[in-house]
Amino acid sequence: MTFPVQGPMRLDDAIESLFGRGARITASRPIGGGCINDARRLEVSTGDALFVKSNRASLTGLFEEEARGLAELACEGGPRVPAVHGVITDGDRQLILLEFIERGSKGRGFFADFASRLATLHRSRRAERAGFAGDNHIGASPQANGWRETWASFFGEQRILFQVSLAERKGIADAVLRRSAERLVARLPDLLPEPDGGFHLMHGDLWGGNYMVDSAGGAVLIDPAVAYGHREADIAMTELFGGFSRDFYAAYRESWPLDGGYDDRRDIYNLYHLLNHANLFGGSYLSSCRAILRRYQ
Ligand code: ADP
Repeated sequence: MTFPVQGPMRLDDAIESLFGRGARITASRPIGGGCINDARRLEVSTGDALFVKSNRASLTGLFEEEARGLAELACEGGPRVPAVHGVITDGDRQLILLEFIERGSKGRGFFADFASRLATLHRSRRAERAGFAGDNHIGASPQANGWRETWASFFGEQRILFQVSLAERKGIADAVLRRSAERLVARLPDLLPEPDGGFHLMHGDLWGGNYMVDSAGGAVLIDPAVAYGHREADIAMTELFGGFSRDFYAAYRESWPLDGGYDDRRDIYNLYHLLNHANLFGGSYLSSCRAILRRYQ
């Protein structure tokens, strides 16, 4: 995948390459809210604005993944996604350069529009297998995307058992957790439906902090953890921590009804995120995981 600017390059040169000779940065303002990187709004002498995140160049790959994920999500009729200008390495810093999204507020039809666009995205971006062209991250955790022929095997191996292995390496999982996760995974071919007509592109980390509202009052997707799988997993995650209204679910189902039995599968999908949270933050997340697993023994 290529972007307008890429590779080792000074930020000043990237700005000229993007906005024309003589273009230069006229202002740089820090943006709060991110967990991991230094984020800024850059103003350019041409009147353009950029969103730039930077980190140590030794963390190579993270911004390429993010850029790739955002580019994959950009879809005609889908939710807005910031345009990717590129990923560069300037000395000991790595930078991702994105279109700057000016913030606005939610209008009346915000959630209905967001949901029907999300359904369009799920419907239009398809793959023949479950997985993605490269591994990526979900928050600060690694996410394995090796291709599988079925959603059940992908979700079982690359999502649930992958997180259980991470938990074992961290020393927070015992043999009971491993055995009960394996028992659930063995049942997944009966519990999870395979998608018709190809696997759906999932945002992958669709909680309330990973969409923004732009100045036109529309939803903008950020911080993806993309892979092709089943759209139900995206919808389940929106329900885990809140931040999406009733209109959202009504409009999604109107655009594309969910298969019967989704309510019974929601917790299976969210077990992945709860395991990830247990690995990242510890606390009571592991007991929530055990409670879900107990139902499938
Ligand atoms: P991190 O990778 O450090 O978690 P985020 O990608 O979450 O950083 O970005 C930090 C904050 O910057 C977000 O909470 C959001 O408010 C804002 N933001 C993200 N992308 C853009 C963008 N393209 N334009 C403007 N603001 C953005």
